[in-house]
Formats: sequence, structure tokens, C-alpha cells
Amino acid sequence: MSAKGTLYILSAPSGGGKSSLIAGLLERFNLDDKLRLSISHTTRDMRPGEVDGQSYFFVNEEEFKALIERGAFLEYAQVFDRYYGTSREVVQQWLDEGRDVLLDIDWQGARNIRAQMPGCVSIFIVPPSLEELRHRLEKRQRDTPEVIDQRMELAKREISHYREYDYVVVNDKYDNALVQLRGIILARRCLLEKQEEARHELFENLLAGYIDPESSTEA
Ligand code: 5GP
Repeated sequence: MSAKGTLYILSAPSGGGKSSLIAGLLERFNLDDKLRLSISHTTRDMRPGEVDGQSYFFVNEEEFKALIERGAFLEYAQVFDRYYGTSREVVQQWLDEGRDVLLDIDWQGARNIRAQMPGCVSIFIVPPSLEELRHRLEKRQRDTPEVIDQRMELAKREISHYREYDYVVVNDKYDNALVQLRGIILARRCLLEKQEEARHELFENLLAGYIDPESSTEA
């Protein structure tokens, strides 16, 4: 059996560049097809350009609550007054297949997942400055100045949780941040315990017939 995959939590304040980095990881660094992005369910409205089933599964509050009842979520949280939830079954299936799974979730979800999945790895992506964050939010031309002010306050709230994460990536230059994220994922795949699980036969072959002199005792 192949080794289980690793669960990666990625959090960032709104405008931190997380979605583009995730897209970059999936498009440019997924040649072995081992990486998967979990698609959450949400009750928020679809934005222009979003596709149901690709960006999110868009459901109404009643449907979301029925999914909670059924235990369909590994975690769920209320963000900006809307519900967001991570599908339990899909994530578990991919991990069992040996794939690494990315969760794009907020700090509340991150806390919740850490408590349930001890082997998960959490990464916090921060903008290089508050000015740059505001600039990115303005450039998207999605929100009114009032909503941008609100998002800036919420961003600080999200950032205040950075110490709860295993890794921090500063998204100053896109390509640098992408390489750092890729580096974290590659290093985790080389961890001894992962390699022993994934390359069990290789080690058996490499050490076939070998008797460790230090372990043989004198008669
Ligand atoms: P947006 O509405 O801008 O796509 O996402 C708003 C926030 O909700 C982001 O911080 C995103 O990471 C978070 N989010 C998206 N899906 C989930 C989820 O399934 N669970 C939790 N806890 N947060 C989520």
C-alpha cells in the first residue's frame, strides 16, 4: 500500500495572494498529479467568473445545515457571516490514495483541523505590508472603499493567528513564494517516516542479505 498523503492547511488574509499561489502550485508543480485542492461548500453568493464545483460548491443555508447534520464536514466555520465547510469524504479518500491535499481555509478551520488531524501541516501566507495588502484589494476592483476598510480590519484579525501555524511564507514576489511553498511540500515528502512507508520495498532491496555487525553478539 502506498503511503498516506499529507494534509496542508493554507491560510491568508483576504488579498494575501493565496488563491493565485494555490493555482500556481496546481498548474506548475503538479506533474506527478499527487496534489489536490479540496473544494469547500459555501453559502456565500457566487462571484463573477466563479464556477460551481470548481471554486466552491455553492449551496443555500438549508442545504448546508443538512450537510452538517449528516456529518459531511471535517470542519466548518462562519466567515464574513457566511458558512464554509470542508468535505470529509473527499479529503479522506485522497489522503488514503496517497495524495497531498490542500485546504484553503481560515484560522478557525485551521484550529479545528489541527485538533483532529495531528499529521497535518499548516502554512500561513502573509503580505509584505499592509499598504501592499490594501493595494491588492483595490486592484481587484471587487469591493467598495468601505468593504475594503472592513477587509483590512478582518485581515489583521486573521494575521493575529500566525503563531498557530507551522510555516510562514511572505508573499512579496509571487515566484519566490511559490518556490517556498513547493519547498515545504517536497521536504515533507522526504521525511523519514513518509519515505519508509512509500519506499518500503526499496529499503528492503537495498539492504537484502545485510547483517548489521553491530547487532550480532559474540557467542
Ligand atoms: P472567499 O469568500 O473570499 O472565497 O473566502 C473567505 C475565507 O473563507 C477565506 O479565508 C477562505 O480561506 C475561507 N474558507 C474557504 N473555504 C473554507 C472552509 O471550508 N472552511 C473554513 N474554515 N474556511 C474556509
